[in-house]
Amino acid sequence: MEKAGKTISTPRVILRAEHSISRSNISDSAVKVLYRLKDAGYKAYLVGGGVRDMLLGREPKDFDVATDAHPEEVQEQFRSCHLIGRRFRLAHVRVGRDIVEVATFRANVPAVEEGEARSVKRGEDLHTENGRIMRDNVYGTLEEDAWRRDFTINALYYNIADFSVVDYTGGLEDLKAGWIRLIGDPVQRYREDPVRMLRAVRFAAKLGFRIHPDTEDPLFDLGYLLEDIPSARLYEEVLKLFMGGCALETFELLRHYRLFEHLFPQTEDDLAQEREGFPSELVARALANTDARVAAGKPVTPAFLFAALLWGPMRRMAEPLQAGGESEIQAIQEAGDTVVMRQVQRIALPKRFSMPMREIWTMQPRFTQINGKRPLSLLTHPRFRAAYDFLLLRGESGEDVLDLCEWWTKFQEVNADAHGRASAAGGRMPGAADERQTLLRTPVAGAKAVMGSEAPAAAKKRRRPRKRRKPAGAAATGTAAE
Ligand code: ATP
Ligand code: MG
Repeated sequence: MEKAGKTISTPRVILRAEHSISRSNISDSAVKVLYRLKDAGYKAYLVGGGVRDMLLGREPKDFDVATDAHPEEVQEQFRSCHLIGRRFRLAHVRVGRDIVEVATFRANVPAVEEGEARSVKRGEDLHTENGRIMRDNVYGTLEEDAWRRDFTINALYYNIADFSVVDYTGGLEDLKAGWIRLIGDPVQRYREDPVRMLRAVRFAAKLGFRIHPDTEDPLFDLGYLLEDIPSARLYEEVLKLFMGGCALETFELLRHYRLFEHLFPQTEDDLAQEREGFPSELVARALANTDARVAAGKPVTPAFLFAALLWGPMRRMAEPLQAGGESEIQAIQEAGDTVVMRQVQRIALPKRFSMPMREIWTMQPRFTQINGKRPLSLLTHPRFRAAYDFLLLRGESGEDVLDLCEWWTKFQEVNADAHGRASAAGGRMPGAADERQTLLRTPVAGAKAVMGSEAPAAAKKRRRPRKRRKPAGAAATGTAAE
């Protein structure tokens, strides 16, 4: 099966009548692109996840096109077409609101750059250090294109010229048998691009397939290779792992293959330690909730996901800080700084998510303040909903906050407006104000302790009365504050 040069094997070709793919399952945009290329005299195939998922009777996520037309030739065929990537140029063809990715057949070259190609901006230097234009050296035949792909089930081609499916690598058999099998020598293919290890796990979880023993064995030992992958690429992959609807299963497989510890080392450390005799359930529950939300078509945000993944390590670091006299919020902030700083070196969570994530954390102690005006003001916080959901998650996972959860659930009900939304302005129904007052006077267990234990009173920092400074120039203007 190993190959080096040009065509050496005959593909299995499954005719139109013998497979389940019909053009009506393919997006109109992809069909248009395929026909345009074909009519211009090029070869044009659908390939990858789209073909795989259609053969499995699943809804495809996207449709990728492979062709023998070079990127510039693809560009000539379409009014709106951008070339992206440096060494491997991919064409992004815009059809209406869709973008169809069109890749030129190519031979095997380290595919670590494949993922990178998608994030490299246009117009960057196309030369390597020695001045050669690399992109002209990598184009290949359909067959070469098949062998350079990752898994056999991802190397099936749907030919728009005769509607047949073309299989060089045994993908159809594996699809039938439910195997995730790397093409070629597994260790070599993982070394070429370690992200393939994550992809193996992702497809196994998503499709309910088993990883073939030859493809599976090296996983246990090669996780460390992930440490060389750029953090931005790992971030993209982590989102696919945990936001695709099979997060819990994926997480369990990642831990089984000892890959998770290379993505979230602090979380793995925390999970390995028991808390009050039990391993923490919070991460698993958060992932199960995420899956339920995805299944229900509800939005999920990386901020909440990362808040859950890193809550354990953050808490573990915050506890001694709090015991040493810092306030809960200070301790969470300080521990949060360190935990996030370490994590983003591995996985580049963007600031637009790490900021709200930390807000979710720092709002947790505020849920313990259930007297006076504070609860109402918390209710109007833009991040209230996410932080409240996080409180519920902590409660479900065995943290001692169930009474608080109940209190906040009721408090939202009595403050709900006519549309049932929680708001400080709501609660105008008769009796709502009384109920609110009663709630505000109700003592609640756990209302003071987020970290599980309060800081010893003696160690608590006394707040010194702040000395008021004279504003600059106060003497001259006669507006002294004191
Ligand atoms: P999904 O349903 O998640 O989109 P997919 O298989 O389509 O799954 P993509 O990341 O969209 O995954 O990639 C499209 C195709 O490109 C794959 O099916 C595979 O043939 C090829 N490919 C992607 N990444 C790699 C890689 N790292 N190494 C080799 N081939 C790859
Ligand atoms: Mg795809």
